[in-house]
Amino acid sequence: MTSDKSAAAFQEAQKYIPGGVNSPVRAFSAVGASPRFIRSGKGSRVTDIDGNEYVDYVCSWGPLILGHARASVVAAVKGALETGSSFGAPTERETDLARKIVEAVPSIEKVRLVNSGTEAAMSAIRLARGFTGRDKIIKFEGCYHGHADGLLVAAGSGATTLGVPTSPGVPADYAKNTIVLPFNDVNRVKEVCDAEGSDIAAIILEPIAGNMGVVPPVAGFLEGLREITKVHGIVLIFDEVITGFRIGRGGAQEHYGVTPDLTLLGKVIGGGLPVGAYGGKAEIMAHISPEGPVYQAGTLSGNPLAVAAGIAMLDELSKPGVYEQLESLGAILAAGLEESARQVDIPTFHTRVGSMQCMFFSSSKIWNYQSATASNTKRYAAWFRGMLDRGSYFAPAQYEAAFVSTAHSAWDIEQTLAASIDVMKSL
Ligand SMILES: *Cc1c(COP(=O)(O)O)cnc(C)c1O
Repeated sequence: MTSDKSAAAFQEAQKYIPGGVNSPVRAFSAVGASPRFIRSGKGSRVTDIDGNEYVDYVCSWGPLILGHARASVVAAVKGALETGSSFGAPTERETDLARKIVEAVPSIEKVRLVNSGTEAAMSAIRLARGFTGRDKIIKFEGCYHGHADGLLVAAGSGATTLGVPTSPGVPADYAKNTIVLPFNDVNRVKEVCDAEGSDIAAIILEPIAGNMGVVPPVAGFLEGLREITKVHGIVLIFDEVITGFRIGRGGAQEHYGVTPDLTLLGKVIGGGLPVGAYGGKAEIMAHISPEGPVYQAGTLSGNPLAVAAGIAMLDELSKPGVYEQLESLGAILAAGLEESARQVDIPTFHTRVGSMQCMFFSSSKIWNYQSATASNTKRYAAWFRGMLDRGSYFAPAQYEAAFVSTAHSAWDIEQTLAASIDVMKSL
């Protein structure tokens, strides 16, 4: 397998684009490799510009739950494009997508469409602050909610609950309104809320963390947060940008039976086009402009192409058997990867919920950011490179999810598992 053309394309890209990429993880810097430039995708596979074909477990970082270039999605986008790509005026399609979201997601009575998950998170936090009249928020270590200023924050040192910026350019003044706590530790949340709950507008989390690998909630964590937020009048926000319409149509909130006040969506609901959404209780959503005073707008929000793709996607996901198929494919992949590591006694810890999973190169149990980041990332990088060479494209970093789509076949997964047995032996 050669990658000369990708290497040259990467050189060229770096002349004009910072780091050669439009989103950092694409640069492959966490796995000591050079990124493959993709020419096309179809079903479960992508082909790079050198002509190499890969079974794709990145799936555009989550959106492509039906695989690449799904016929119904392609047809919907073409149809929409031919009748005008943007109007800056309302269309019936937007109501259609909103209705489908409201019908599927337990917490959502009203929903506003935006253009990315980042925008959804930023807007929902503004709404929670406007609704409660409070400034502080709680987020959890290892959860990612896009790159808005107040969310690029890590836990401060010592006894203080004040967050500190994780990126230059984020004002400390801004970060100090973000309290960062360990994931899956409901007692810490209770302590902080007992002390300063009346200053806290929102608790935001990924109900299944998908940006530190995959870390499911421990029993009682989501329920505990629901209880605490009720007591203190805090808005509970589930960031279901990954899990929405992936862990079933009702997302993680339906799966675990815990209903937040607001929910963020993205990825899957855009069918591979740029879409995000935030929604929740009608009483809270009524504070959004123009119904209420909290401002939020977007020139391309509810864009006809993106909305058409989203509708086609959600229609396919409402067919019977889809999530059962995803569950079964996910289970086969997880069991096989685990077996490939066991055969050569390489310690791994596997997490999975439905079609999202992670193989941590770690000998200990993983339940939060601290335990996750004790993984052997060098070993992951070596495994990743070996798999890429053998035609399986996993995320170019240990702390990401592997996704399966309905386009993955038993044969795709068999090929991947055979490769993993081979690669594990070489580690
Ligand atoms: C991807 C992601 C986001 C950000 O979405 P973008 O569309 O990349 O801005 C937010 N939250 C979670 C949980 C995500 O995985």
